[in-house]
Amino acid sequence: MPKKPENDALVTEITPRSQDFSRWYLDVVRRAELADYSPVKGCMVIRPYGYAIWELIQQAFDRRFKATGHVNAYFPLFIPEGLLQKEADHVEGFSPQVAYVTHAGGEALEEKLVVRPTSEAIIGTMYAKWVQSWRDLPILINQWANVVRWEKVTRPFLRTTEFLWQEGHTAHETEAEAEEETLKMLGVYQEVVESELAMPVLTGRKTDSERFAGALRTYSIEALMGDGRALQAGTSHNLGQNFAKAFEIKFQARDKSLQYVWGTSWGVSTRLVGGLIMTHGDDSGLILPPRVAPYQVVIVPIPRGNWQETVLPKAQAIRDELTAKGIRVMLDDRDSQTPGWKYAEWEMRGVPLRLEIGPRDVENGQVVLVRRDTREKTPTPMAELATRVPALLDDLQRALFERAVQFRQEHTTRVDSWDEFKAVMEGRPGFVIAPWCGSAACEAEVKAETQATIRNLPLGEQRSGGACIKCGKAAVAEAYFAKAY
Ligand SMILES: [Zn+2]
Repeated sequence: MPKKPENDALVTEITPRSQDFSRWYLDVVRRAELADYSPVKGCMVIRPYGYAIWELIQQAFDRRFKATGHVNAYFPLFIPEGLLQKEADHVEGFSPQVAYVTHAGGEALEEKLVVRPTSEAIIGTMYAKWVQSWRDLPILINQWANVVRWEKVTRPFLRTTEFLWQEGHTAHETEAEAEEETLKMLGVYQEVVESELAMPVLTGRKTDSERFAGALRTYSIEALMGDGRALQAGTSHNLGQNFAKAFEIKFQARDKSLQYVWGTSWGVSTRLVGGLIMTHGDDSGLILPPRVAPYQVVIVPIPRGNWQETVLPKAQAIRDELTAKGIRVMLDDRDSQTPGWKYAEWEMRGVPLRLEIGPRDVENGQVVLVRRDTREKTPTPMAELATRVPALLDDLQRALFERAVQFRQEHTTRVDSWDEFKAVMEGRPGFVIAPWCGSAACEAEVKAETQATIRNLPLGEQRSGGACIKCGKAAVAEAYFAKAY
């Protein structure tokens, strides 16, 4: 459908996706007022519209965490330096990114404080106090918090020095229980991201070189962005007994022996907002899946004649009716802007459905519904809105997911040789599935030559046999490679 000229004038501020994807991304973040740069380098301000999206994401996860038996708590932002150093791999993994507090209250601190990059150390210390017996287990605690990782290169939502996230930390009696929890939360992540954010993800195990510092095994969900790059969208770690040993989290087992607990930790962050933008957006801006859209419907009254006496009361009645059905509605009754400007503005902000209503519509007892994804216009009787709008929102949610699944299918290639791998990786191929021998050296060489990393090793059935694309030795797994954020 051709756009009205007035729309074009407004959206030219957004660089076309095909022209420069990363410019497009930054333009959308800025124009849709999701986030802004701050006076602190690498730290972003999440603006109200962006924060509203995050709150919906947060609520969706929080519901599932609670439904699976977890409770929320809060631990301090500061960690005494000595605590972080107790787990050797952990401190080594995080030390380049750690920020310290050295002075406070006008004095140099006796012991430096670390601004948490993650909370295993402080939470482990507390669990050591709280756990005595097998009867105290499992501990299933989640924390919603901010963390700080000093990053050299940052990008709003995708990589920022301070970010918001949740971190689940659990302690169990047995290794099997910890592994079950790790995979259960990976499944929760997949379910929420696919059903609420409409982003299909691959679940799998990270290679040893990509494993969380101090973990036994790390699993991840990996999404594919519109430019063919992968995005790690969440991780779940089986910590084994590493942290329990470092922090002395011991309990008396059922057989009276003294044992270390088995731990897990898992997290998703504001990075998911970036994932949403890059999965669904188009040249006109954001497209938000209805379940995480701050406004699911925007009503734009057409100001003709005495519209404030005729159209506006109808629009208000529709807003109230839809709101009562649990739908998030914005009635844009501003005098200061034209309908055309509002159409472009709310399209850019990704509102899934637009409802246009003018004097003639009021006479005919109907409105026009316009989908953000297809821009399809449907005249709809007012009397049917309470059923048609929720149905359309559901359909749009499903359509966005299906479109993303199809995109991933079209951007997933299976290769068996190094030449083929290199040729495919030259463009923006998405996921490339290839046999891998399991050696970190091959993984590193692939990365050095093509920038591609192993995103994860899928959990499901695997094709057996084959030779490592890099060294030709027998493959142990089929790995999903991609260039990643
Ligand atoms: Zn190899």
